[in-house]
Amino acid sequence: MEPRDLSGHTVYQAGRGVEEVARELGLDPDDLVKLASNENPFGPSPDAVAAIRDAAGSASSYPKASHADLVEKLADRWDVAPEQVWLANGGDGVLDYLSRAMLAPGDQVLVPDPGFAYYGMSARYHHGEVREYGVSKADDFALTAETVLDDYDGERVVYLTSPHNPTGKRFDLDAIESIAAETDPDTLVVVDEAYGEFADAPSAVELVDEREDVALVRTFSKVYGLAGVRLGYGIVPEAWADAYARVNTPFAASEIACRAGLAALDDDEHARKTVETAAWAREYVRENLDAPTWESHGNFVLAEVGDASAVADELQRRGVIVRDCTSFGLPDCVRITCGTEAETERAVAALNEVLAS
Ligand SMILES: *Cc1c(COP(=O)(O)O)cnc(C)c1O
Repeated sequence: MEPRDLSGHTVYQAGRGVEEVARELGLDPDDLVKLASNENPFGPSPDAVAAIRDAAGSASSYPKASHADLVEKLADRWDVAPEQVWLANGGDGVLDYLSRAMLAPGDQVLVPDPGFAYYGMSARYHHGEVREYGVSKADDFALTAETVLDDYDGERVVYLTSPHNPTGKRFDLDAIESIAAETDPDTLVVVDEAYGEFADAPSAVELVDEREDVALVRTFSKVYGLAGVRLGYGIVPEAWADAYARVNTPFAASEIACRAGLAALDDDEHARKTVETAAWAREYVRENLDAPTWESHGNFVLAEVGDASAVADELQRRGVIVRDCTSFGLPDCVRITCGTEAETERAVAALNEVLAS
């Protein structure tokens, strides 16, 4: 037998892992700097690490109390009702739940190009069709209401990434509001704020409160350094928040993930250090890299380096892994994640050597 026709589906290309690259190049993993997946260079919050250790002994039970506690804490923090918080297996899991809740077979979604691959992947898994709006390099990747509305044609879901991956640009709240107002009442505007903590700008959560057609995606993978435990959440309008009960995979977030998330939310010091270091690193890269870059509101910087694939390979031989953006449709750009000060300085120095040779 065969699976259903998957020829229209794409394979997610993750940034390369340290172990994988070290093995291939015969290097010690400790000598490598990985700035390819927008992970937290400080690791998880130490409090989350302790919580994960403590939770190990309760791994035999389904997560009920921890799930409810985390939902409650997030609801408090965002000033929404607990039903409006949709816990999931990473931000990607939230995208799946929104697809499940919104898409009937053949419905169309509108995604950014270049942009985060999983929007389209999730829509296709749920028998949706994918259309794109262009985020134009000629226009310095500007994100305005027109960027989206010029290509909008009644799609059921429109995805906005703010700050945007891989460019680092963001939408103003006014632009998001215009997009929600100008699109059909039955079009859901999903605002992906995976990098929201790194931006010196307000969340779109107030629109979720005021409207029924805006939902947010947030994650513990980036600022909280918990990419490995897979934890994210949506914030959705109260009007249809109860759909969660009908679409979620039971026990959407694990006991260990929920305990880690609860601890991470209380560790303000870790989050503050992460955000401050990213802000420093963005400026350092932009000032010191011998290549054009774009202003970023995330924990990464996009740089134009010529043949990105060749540059990333050469840089990797020097022990620094960055993200070649060819799979995003930007074959002349790499995306450099903000590291610690030492990692960021080493990456910039190595990349400048590669660019000079
Ligand atoms: C990292 C990321 C996510 C969420 O990733 P998870 O690890 O699944 O939480 C969502 N959107 C964008 C744009 C991202 O870069």
